[in-house]
Amino acid sequence: MQVFHNIYIHVPFCTAKCNYCAFYSMANPNPDWQKYADNICQELRFWSEKLGKIKVPTIFFGGGTPSLMPVMIFERIINCIKDNFDIDNNCEITLESNPGTIDKNKLSDFVLAGVNRLSVGVQSLKDEELLFLGRKHNVKQATDLLDIAKNMNLRVSADFIYGLPNHNEESIVDLCRRINNLDLKHVSMYELTIEKNTPFGKMNLNMPDNETMAKMYMEISEYLSLPRYEVSNYAIPGDECRHNQNIWNGDAYIGIGRGAAGRVMMDGIWYEQRGANELFEPISNETRAIEKILTGLRTMRGVKLTDDVKSKINFDWVNSHKDLVEINNEYLHTTHQGLLILDDLTVDLIK
Ligand code: SF4
Repeated sequence: MQVFHNIYIHVPFCTAKCNYCAFYSMANPNPDWQKYADNICQELRFWSEKLGKIKVPTIFFGGGTPSLMPVMIFERIINCIKDNFDIDNNCEITLESNPGTIDKNKLSDFVLAGVNRLSVGVQSLKDEELLFLGRKHNVKQATDLLDIAKNMNLRVSADFIYGLPNHNEESIVDLCRRINNLDLKHVSMYELTIEKNTPFGKMNLNMPDNETMAKMYMEISEYLSLPRYEVSNYAIPGDECRHNQNIWNGDAYIGIGRGAAGRVMMDGIWYEQRGANELFEPISNETRAIEKILTGLRTMRGVKLTDDVKSKINFDWVNSHKDLVEINNEYLHTTHQGLLILDDLTVDLIK
């Protein structure tokens, strides 16, 4: 019986749209924040009525650009969570941020209000690349924000994008060395993907070919000083993002805000959840087991071989593909080679 749920709060506002962005977000740095908080609190109350005053181990404010939010709005939302749920004493509370939208004073107010982990959208350590990506900050603003957060003893993570049109194997080695110099404990490295209906989707960009992309991906694990713990995430052991880890492990989470989705557990039944009352569909145990395999295999630890998971795995295939997958301490995980073809591999692995 799942008595705790992680909470994800979506903050869909940004200073401007980045050239590659296909996320649910809008260019509006001055929205009606009170109305936004009204809607978020209404959804939180809805779920509290459905689920009871359940325990909350992690809260993640993602976006969009949550650091645009006035601290008093953040406080309103946190207080609403406190009133309606049972927040763990050591709850991980992450705020996603973009350099240029938050200074030392504002960050310090966020920390006083409960934030204990800051994720910074650095994206590149070259000003010309930030310009190309359509980002509104420069490298100095990003590294200053990382320093400010580290000096406050916050847990800090930084996001980067690689695989830009001019990137090759040398540029990734250079990027990893620059990142290593930042002395971070958690880093996310995302490959640039070109989505339709974005400014990049309408340009004819000369992207690195698949082989180069795969080589760059392998180089990251070789040259970055942090070990990979998930497809795109690297951290000193113990400094992983608990919120995402819980979700990848198959724990329950509520997605709050338009564009957010979750998996909630009520009276022993799993439900797909979107917003307060948009979609609220039960999920069969079989589907839930497959979801756990898909997310668990994204992590280096792998998916725990519980009975429901085992019933959906083709062990004949596993036993004949030891170059791609391995079993270790009741967890099934991919090898480095398997990780490179994760999507294809899961098609054969799941029965
Ligand atoms: S800051 Fe993030 S969510 Fe906002 S437009 Fe840029 S990529 Fe999209």
